[in-house]
Amino acid sequence: MASAMQWLPNLKKNNPNYNIKDEYSKMMNQLEKPRDTNTAKFKPTIKNKSSTIVGGSDAIKLIKSNGNNHYIVATRDIKSGEFIYINKPFEMITSVGKCYTTCWHCYRQTWSSVACDKCSCIIFCSQKCKDIAWNEYHDLECLILSLFLKLDLMDDEDKPLYHLTIKILSKALKATGGIAELKKKINDIDSMKDTSMIYTDDIFDVNTLDNFYRLDYYKPTSDECSFERAIDISAIVETFSKMTNIFGRKLRPVDSVILGGLIFRHLMIVERNVMRYTDDVSKNLSLTFAAIMPIREMFVKNCDPHVNWCNCEPNDTFLAQRPIKKGEKISISLVGRYQKDTLSERQMRLEALDLKPCKCSTCVQNLPLLENLPSYKSLKLSKQVQQELDCIVLKLGDYFGLIVEENTEKLLKRKDTFAEITDKFYQHVTVPCQEASFFSLMLEKLYHQLANQRRII
Ligand SMILES: [Zn+2]
Ligand SMILES: [Zn+2]
Ligand SMILES: [Zn+2]
Repeated sequence: MASAMQWLPNLKKNNPNYNIKDEYSKMMNQLEKPRDTNTAKFKPTIKNKSSTIVGGSDAIKLIKSNGNNHYIVATRDIKSGEFIYINKPFEMITSVGKCYTTCWHCYRQTWSSVACDKCSCIIFCSQKCKDIAWNEYHDLECLILSLFLKLDLMDDEDKPLYHLTIKILSKALKATGGIAELKKKINDIDSMKDTSMIYTDDIFDVNTLDNFYRLDYYKPTSDECSFERAIDISAIVETFSKMTNIFGRKLRPVDSVILGGLIFRHLMIVERNVMRYTDDVSKNLSLTFAAIMPIREMFVKNCDPHVNWCNCEPNDTFLAQRPIKKGEKISISLVGRYQKDTLSERQMRLEALDLKPCKCSTCVQNLPLLENLPSYKSLKLSKQVQQELDCIVLKLGDYFGLIVEENTEKLLKRKDTFAEITDKFYQHVTVPCQEASFFSLMLEKLYHQLANQRRII
């Protein structure tokens, strides 16, 4: 209102009868109620936090196996619907279509944004996020990002990879103090004898810069390390040297060469580990977010997973979609789950990611799709158990109806009951079963509905 008043004298010149006070109250009356956003109502929580894993619950711990691999195990029985990990991704960017409604720094959706003073390609949710971003990385990436967007240098497919790379690299350069310092840090990490993930003071934070350099990356001999990539990277180096005054001085030729190498390494880590996802609001499969989420690498991969990823902005969460027993290695699916995607579909996706065929028990047995799985009715169960399961299954229709209706309010009230009946079903059924799978799939859908419906593409 105060800002509008400032412009009133100009407005009056063109429209002498304009009365802003009347117009203002009229406008306020016309405003509809604020849009109901699901995220405001549903906040995933962890009751007891892990004392060693940042973002984890006390139900999980990280185990290092012989080959420097890691896996997460359950330290106690975990119930369906329980969140075992809630944390921000290591880094994330939003696509061009979403960058004016998502804070570039904290990834929250925002409708009252604060723009960057220098570029016009991103926004922040608050002055605080803007200041932090500027100090930590955006002063470096700002000119480069805006130039990239303006020149439209890369394929749409590749843009998120480069944006993410530039953001992470800018952060790393600022955190370490310069090109030579960052190069030394990476060399030090690479030359450590123990190549497992790095703990700091007995605490495991998967989202540290040190652990980012522990992630697998496409090696120089791979197809991804192409000549085209080298040309793109030299354009980025050129932009860095011409457009930025990196740490108070122009880039020397020797620094340019090192910087090129650093960009290559970051890009190859990003390309190997990027997770692309969209939100259901736009009802299409176009890319909305690209993120690096190293915690995914800590889970065993299985096409009949224990937990699924669910994005509750600004966090990534992992939620048990069926009960997990104490001591079990907790699994996530990498390229789909057997009840929904055929073995050949999953294999094709793995090939596209340059990964070996999956050797999980469901893939080895080649279990059928949901509709072809046996029903609990055909299993050898006692009459009493059969009757109990009959009663539970009766509730399925109700449950399914609320999800189809997208009745968030009722789902929110009944989510715990649905999780309990999922547990009950699994108590009696331990072999592949249509209804048990359906319960798990429903639980996954339920939480996607309660959260903000972002999903992997
Ligand atoms: Zn923010
Ligand atoms: Zn900017
Ligand atoms: Zn598998």
